[in-house]
Amino acid sequence: MTVQNDPLKAGSSREWNWHPDLPVAVTPAFSWPPRPVETVRWFVNNWLPVTEYVLYTLMAFATWAWLTPDLSEMSSLGFGWVLSLWLRNLLLMTLFAQGLHVWLYGWKQQGDDYKYDRRGLARNHRIFLFNDQYWDNVFYALVSGVTIWTAFDALIWMAYANGWAPMITFDSNPIWFVALFLLMPLIQSFHFYWLHRALHIPFFYKHVHSVHHRSVSIAPWSGFSMHPVEHVGYMGLLLMFLVVPAHPVHFVFMGYWLALATATSHAGFENLVLGEKAKLKIGSFHHQLHHRYFECNYGNPEMSWDNWFGSYHDGSPEATIETRKRKDRMYSKS
Ligand SMILES: [Zn+2]
Ligand SMILES: [Zn+2]
Repeated sequence: MTVQNDPLKAGSSREWNWHPDLPVAVTPAFSWPPRPVETVRWFVNNWLPVTEYVLYTLMAFATWAWLTPDLSEMSSLGFGWVLSLWLRNLLLMTLFAQGLHVWLYGWKQQGDDYKYDRRGLARNHRIFLFNDQYWDNVFYALVSGVTIWTAFDALIWMAYANGWAPMITFDSNPIWFVALFLLMPLIQSFHFYWLHRALHIPFFYKHVHSVHHRSVSIAPWSGFSMHPVEHVGYMGLLLMFLVVPAHPVHFVFMGYWLALATATSHAGFENLVLGEKAKLKIGSFHHQLHHRYFECNYGNPEMSWDNWFGSYHDGSPEATIETRKRKDRMYSKS
């Protein structure tokens, strides 16, 4: 299915408190014949996480320099260093998710400006743990999410410390060192699309992925709120560092890109308003549509998987009708 609808300017509609320009922009990087000028323009204008990408890169270097236990200490399993990694991840996740939550939903610093969904977080709803979406999301993100993230962290650090994983440096492989930084978002997009599609097979959806989808109206803590099996699959991408030659800063970056960026991509707001004119793009309407209509936009706009496999929802009513038909077909088979 290729939905091609008339462009619609950003603003309010019956379905949304606020939506960006529609159809939802996806990268032209993979179009044929190539469109290099549009591709560069898209990355500059539309690639939401560009600021975040720089932020996580800087954080990865700082973490490696000042917040990582000695490699020699991590060559054998020890309670102390694993605990320090767990605490570090817990603090960072809380800083990102709770920081955004307090700013946008607690203090309501920008009211409903650039908020996608008119609804807020669900309260007194039996579907959630503790009958409350906020506490349900916090619980899954911290207890399951941060713990499983830290388990993969510990394994990869031990692999580096013992020489089981191929380690490079900038001096030994400068081109690959830089190229891998640019490739990681694409690798993540590839992994996310296919894992996520598998999670939407009705059996896995029912037993695993439905935990993430309880949050129809999403907020920062909803992003990392997943069933433990989904956390294992999602953070399991870190195992790539057992075979791909890399420096530990690449590995730390990927952990942040996977875990922390779920808080921004699920913020529920397109922009963070920081003063009179300054605003920072954070949310993802592409993924917001997935939480509203389910059987569409399994990937992210960094790669056009949904466009190639007919699951792209561009934000129009026609695409909603198509998506509902697809859902009916999927569930009539099972
Ligand atoms: Zn999903
Ligand atoms: Zn989600």
